[in-house]
Amino acid sequence: MNKKKVISDYPKDFFNEKKVFIRVDFNVPINNDLNNIREDYRIRRSIPTIDFLINAGAKVILGSHLGRPKGIVNEDLSLKIVSERLSELMERPVIFCNDFKDKGWTNKFDKLTKGSVVLLENLRFFKEETDNDSEFSKLLASFADIYVNDAFGTSHRAHASTFGMAVNFKSKLAGFLVDKELKFISKMLEKVEKPFVVIIGGSKIKDKISAMSKLLDKADKIIIAGGAAYTFIKANGGKIGNSIFESEMVDWAGKVYAKYSNKIILPIDHLVSESIEKTNSCLIVDDDIPDGYQAFDIGPKTIDLFNSIIKGPGCIFWNGPMGVFEVEKYSSGTIHVARAVALATWRGATSVVGGGETIAALRKAEVLESEISHMSTGGGALLEYIGGSKLPGIEILD
Ligand code: ADP
Ligand code: MG
Repeated sequence: MNKKKVISDYPKDFFNEKKVFIRVDFNVPINNDLNNIREDYRIRRSIPTIDFLINAGAKVILGSHLGRPKGIVNEDLSLKIVSERLSELMERPVIFCNDFKDKGWTNKFDKLTKGSVVLLENLRFFKEETDNDSEFSKLLASFADIYVNDAFGTSHRAHASTFGMAVNFKSKLAGFLVDKELKFISKMLEKVEKPFVVIIGGSKIKDKISAMSKLLDKADKIIIAGGAAYTFIKANGGKIGNSIFESEMVDWAGKVYAKYSNKIILPIDHLVSESIEKTNSCLIVDDDIPDGYQAFDIGPKTIDLFNSIIKGPGCIFWNGPMGVFEVEKYSSGTIHVARAVALATWRGATSVVGGGETIAALRKAEVLESEISHMSTGGGALLEYIGGSKLPGIEILD
């Protein structure tokens, strides 16, 4: 159970007139050419915490990252459009601070009135954020009196805003979203119903592979598909064409597969094409992906195979799409898996689904939130937590 202090453990006057920094996770899927947010679940889920603090008379300063700008300002990854969406959802103004290193700007934080909401520009525009730089941490900490972490999806990172800045505060509390996520997942982990089926897909292979290793002993079956599959297929001597894989992890994947071959399930056919755009060059191939082709989705035999495993009852955990589902032509595998997970839940399975893109995929498949036992805002963080790792952004809290 979560033993961390939650904002509701304090009387409301504790927050009155206080500036509260909330680390939120507004890392949402964005359509750059349309300048729109494809999925705002993470934004909506942060609202209860913000509302609670505003009602308690606080002034709220929000910090988040978006994507991986690697310390470089990139207008495509600006949080400006997120501040607009938040303002619409909350029906109140949100002040967007595009330059929090400018004293002229931050001096204004002292003059904020009760109920003000400020959103800082993408923290990862500064390399110091991911470096967990101590000066940068102190700067962020200087903006507020109380620290709240409600960014469950980023809690596996010891970055300045999730970890470094927190040590500068007397009060470091969990928000409602973090509390809810921890409670659900720790309760599930107390008694994992069998069979425990883990489904891993997506593209952040390196992050996922290391977390996955901890799940191998716990799970009864691990489906590895999407971009995550090809490191394993290559390690097993399969031809993967131009499909994405992690060269540093090939040896590891080979060893893991040899040890857990009775548990690991890989795709048995693939939808491949010459490039992501060339959707009219699509082919379905069994094991050998031809040179010049890249896998963008799982094939029909694989869909049948996965359907036969994702049945319920038991426990199902899913993170990462089965293909590049953002493109209609490559979305079938992901949509089938989303529906299989929902159906299994109807049949009594406990399902946990998480990850920015995976949540967007559920929506695309028209699966409702009520058809999944727990829709998590975390992808990598969830994987780490279920695998039994401690999350630095949670550990640091009171
Ligand atoms: P999540 O955000 O749910 O944790 P990831 O960020 O790991 O998931 O991965 C999501 C991305 O993975 C999607 O944008 C999707 O297009 C991409 N993806 C899935 N399968 C493949 C594949 N075979 N090749 C390349 N990219 C893939
Ligand atoms: Mg993602």
